Amino acid sequence: MSRTVYVNGAFVPEEEAKISVFDRGFLFADAVYEVTAVMDGKLLEYDGHMARLERSLGELEMEMPVDRATMLELHRELVKRNNIENGCVYLQVTRGVADRNFVFPKDTPETLVMFTQTKTLTEPKSGLKVISAPDIRWGRRDIKTVQLLPASLSKMAAKKQGKDDTWLVEDGFVTEGSSNNTYIVTEDGRIITRQLSNSILPGITRAAVLKLVAEQGLEIEERAFTIEEAKKAKEAFMTSATCFVWPVVEIDGTELSGGQPGPLAVRLNEIYIEEARKNAI
Ligand code: PMP
Repeated sequence: MSRTVYVNGAFVPEEEAKISVFDRGFLFADAVYEVTAVMDGKLLEYDGHMARLERSLGELEMEMPVDRATMLELHRELVKRNNIENGCVYLQVTRGVADRNFVFPKDTPETLVMFTQTKTLTEPKSGLKVISAPDIRWGRRDIKTVQLLPASLSKMAAKKQGKDDTWLVEDGFVTEGSSNNTYIVTEDGRIITRQLSNSILPGITRAAVLKLVAEQGLEIEERAFTIEEAKKAKEAFMTSATCFVWPVVEIDGTELSGGQPGPLAVRLNEIYIEEARKNAI
């Protein structure tokens, strides 16, 4: 069935949606995006995603294309028109349409595109097998731009080896997964995840999970870790908006937590879903 998508002020069938070949999102990846999960027809962590969108735009000298109230209305309308019970809303803002030139155009309206995807969000999670690879992305990974080719290549490298994902490594330390934040658990139960900086995306799920972890009285260490340390960890997991807390059971061929999803990751996933449901709007 054809989806209804949103393009610059209009809801249209996906076949009729059009973007200019001169759009800077297309020519320069001059665009940022957000993905907000939808559960039981409601938006999860919506405020967090919009706050990050505003920050991403600001870092690139762009602005919110519509006001906050309109943005929420658009999200809800798209969910409604496409009957999304479980899935996500994808949103992209580009610097707009202009003659191809490296210099930013002046007074050009931004492009705003939104669409939905259906996805089962709460399926039982078998553990993920990951490989490691050098992080070849640019130096501002804290901005959620659509420059996703390195992420796509790293995901493909994993798939070609029959694995699920890649943990990216820079200067000997894991930055994050190809589309998720990464965590390890020490033998004495401390949760280690890389500190925020320009090197990683500040995950909205990361922030929510760390809050829950603190509420559970568990100890968090925000610092970089190596693949060698990860291989010796009691368990490992990753987080993202549409995967929640996903256990990792193998890193570069080394099995973790007996090849089964670690109990802490499984518990955190349950707690996260419960909390996210409560706060959904
Ligand atoms: N890091 C990267 C590189 C990502 O692409 C994502 C998913 N957008 C994340 C982390 C997780 O962020 P979030 O929890 O906000 O989905």
